[in-house]
Amino acid sequence: MTYDESNIFAKILRKEIPCNVIAENLNALAFNDIAPAAPMHFLIIPKKSYQNYHDFISTASRQEIIDLNDLMNSLISKHNLHENGYRIITNTGNDGNQEVKHLHFHLLG
Ligand code: AMP
Repeated sequence: MTYDESNIFAKILRKEIPCNVIAENLNALAFNDIAPAAPMHFLIIPKKSYQNYHDFISTASRQEIIDLNDLMNSLISKHNLHENGYRIITNTGNDGNQEVKHLHFHLLG
């Protein structure tokens, strides 16, 4: 399956539509989910075009993988989620109910 440049997170990355950015680094962006399923519901995405986890881990640079995980972990620390607990979810493909075809991690606290 090829990456679809018209997905909503690609539009956010191209700044064609707004989002509520909460943190970013060179290779990753975090913003609030538009329909929060928990008191804190962040989405963490790579800035380059990866459709899903397998695509990302198989083809991204080590630095991109580190930067995405660092950004996610910085939010865990900043919001003290490591104290009370949290969930990290990434839905993949049709069987995984992936709605937006750009890799994203849901961080729910
Ligand atoms: P998934 O089912 O894992 O693909 O989840 C996609 C998520 O993206 C859902 O939780 C949506 O609420 C969220 N979402 C869709 N459009 C936007 C947007 N424009 N800004 C922020 N979150 C969005």
